[in-house]
Amino acid sequence: MRSQDYDRLFLSPPHLGRHELNYVSKAIEDNWVAPVGPNLDGFERDICEFTGARHCVALTSGTAAIHLGLRLLGVGPGDEVLCPSFTFVATANPILYQGATPVFIDSEAETWNICPERLREALEAGKHQNRLPKALIIVHLYGMPCRLREILALAAEFGVPVLEDAAEALGSRYEGQPLGTFGTIGVFSFNGNKILTTSGGGALVTNSAEWARQARFWATQAKDDAPYYQHSELGYNYRLSNVLAGIGRGQMELLEDRVKKRREIYAWYRQHLAAIPGLSFGPLEPVGSHSNRWLTCLLLNPAETTVTPDQLRLHLETRNIESRPLWKPLHLQPLFADVTSYGGEVCTELFTRGLCLPSGSAMTDADLQRVAGAVRELLVAE
Ligand SMILES: *Cc1c(COP(=O)(O)O)cnc(C)c1O
Repeated sequence: MRSQDYDRLFLSPPHLGRHELNYVSKAIEDNWVAPVGPNLDGFERDICEFTGARHCVALTSGTAAIHLGLRLLGVGPGDEVLCPSFTFVATANPILYQGATPVFIDSEAETWNICPERLREALEAGKHQNRLPKALIIVHLYGMPCRLREILALAAEFGVPVLEDAAEALGSRYEGQPLGTFGTIGVFSFNGNKILTTSGGGALVTNSAEWARQARFWATQAKDDAPYYQHSELGYNYRLSNVLAGIGRGQMELLEDRVKKRREIYAWYRQHLAAIPGLSFGPLEPVGSHSNRWLTCLLLNPAETTVTPDQLRLHLETRNIESRPLWKPLHLQPLFADVTSYGGEVCTELFTRGLCLPSGSAMTDADLQRVAGAVRELLVAE
């Protein structure tokens, strides 16, 4: 750690409790230092219990889970996969791993997530050309549920299976049901900055026992049932370590508490800063939606303030406070320069107007005051 890191306020640092170390110590004492063992089984059980999913496969990352999920859905070379433009690149990279082509869909303003109208356009165009997409990936950005009712109805109407990237949305709910369980396959991430962490890790959930078995098989090098090393299919080394799963077990005990705290942080920022002219906060919850408020995002309105999100970011930096731009839309990424996109103006505007504030669940009142003070310094004219 550098000396200036001591009072640095990070965007979303890991927040451990007391029980992680017990699980980790036990793994080491019992010599389960491998991608197999009781913590791994327990972590998968914990995730099933919390979400209500029937099966869970713990993996090295959320990206690996998306990759296996797409392969389970039969996505391969030449296929198209619909995907929101407004998301982290890890949502779309596995489409390329499978040799398939992403097609990006704009956001809608209410939840910032995939827009049902643009989605219908894409599906109708696919149907018209007689090449429906092989899968639809949905994302709940910053923990906010996407418009699930409309989107699932569209997917059903056109017969396109849904992979639900709930990497940012563990602990969020839609009409009382935990996110991650709405798609045929759901994905969670336990990366260092997510609401819970195993340092790095992910999980795939599904109600299909056969798919869970298949995912585990591919994740452990696809070894055939033979006394020697025989392989008929392509596999990967994607299984989570039993040591890291121990961190995950301790973290899962804290999930409800972490969601509560992130929601309080969002509410605090809103209460203390929303009156500043030109400043507003990320999406309100539509009726029936319950967000884990993974990150609190603000928006600056250029009609009301000359301060830009980047000026604010640099100002916070001088106070040793980390903030980050919203995800840069994928249709604007050089990597995807040739990709077809349905709309894109809505998420582009969110990107140019937004900034994510420190939102870690270990933040104190003094930390929040510090961020608010620094925001006011720049945005409130003396
Ligand atoms: C973090 C994240 C991922 C990837 O998860 P990793 O565990 O980091 O591989 C995928 N999609 C979204 C929306 C994410 O935020």
